[in-house]
Amino acid sequence: MSKIEIIMYHYVRSKNYSKYKKLNYLDFKSFKKQLDYLEDNYNVLDPSILTQKKTNIPKKSCILTFDDGYKDHIDFVFPELKKRGIKGIFFPTGITTLENKILDTNLVQHILSVNKNKYLLIKEVETLCMENGLSKIDFYKKYMKYSVNPKKKSTKPTNRYDDQNTIFLKRILQFGLEKSLREKIVKILFKKYIKIPINKFSKNFYLNKDDINKLLDNEMMIGSHTFNHVWLGYLSKQEQFKEIKQSIEFLNYFKVSTNNWVMCYPFGSYNSNTINVLKKLNCSSAVTTKSKIADLNAKKIFELPRKDTNDYKDLY
Ligand SMILES: [Zn+2]
Repeated sequence: MSKIEIIMYHYVRSKNYSKYKKLNYLDFKSFKKQLDYLEDNYNVLDPSILTQKKTNIPKKSCILTFDDGYKDHIDFVFPELKKRGIKGIFFPTGITTLENKILDTNLVQHILSVNKNKYLLIKEVETLCMENGLSKIDFYKKYMKYSVNPKKKSTKPTNRYDDQNTIFLKRILQFGLEKSLREKIVKILFKKYIKIPINKFSKNFYLNKDDINKLLDNEMMIGSHTFNHVWLGYLSKQEQFKEIKQSIEFLNYFKVSTNNWVMCYPFGSYNSNTINVLKKLNCSSAVTTKSKIADLNAKKIFELPRKDTNDYKDLY
């Protein structure tokens, strides 16, 4: 057997922890119930299996993966895993850990979480674009390009849970608009809707160096989620090489092996250049956001699909 269910988690927190109730997070109580279920029905394996090229995996096995290096992972996830003797793999980024920056994607998530009517928000983004020099026709062209789901064969990510307006807003604010314009618009919207300064908001939002060392001291695994949390699939080969090199320096900083390491593609975005670069730089395997049971059969080791924690919601 080489099949394994790789489960993907993002925010895991208790209800009282965050004032952003509409944010898409897994409640800590549900997390514990899910772990009970997994422990009863699966072999919850050590994620180091991702670096071992093993194919004799017991039936019904799973591993747990945690993206983006949120503070939740040390405050809620880590103590619970430790108590149960379960190991997980965590994918923090360099800019949040070493440079105290906040990811654009997290700002966008929070803006979206407090705006129920996504159509009105699109209109607001359109107005802001126009005030900053984009023509109505260019905005419409972007709408046509980014509001539809990419074709099945594309390596561009799809999203299993978002409606069309949300998909468009995420895409346009994360990469669809030119960088300085989208950063400007995100800042304006964040200020208007979240109402606290970004640097205050980002304080204690992510794992810091001590948190990561604590995870490593307790035999948890750290993998790469790139340094800058980028859409690798949209970068040139040289840009990808530079980004992944920087990601390796991040692993080096924490004395994580750079001979046998695991990549987790931000936004599930990659292409054939990414895989070539990873091979060259001694990466052992990479996980995506495609929802399927993974197969550690060597052929697809750089395109391992993952199940989302929500896929297990109805089981326990
Ligand atoms: Zn991410």
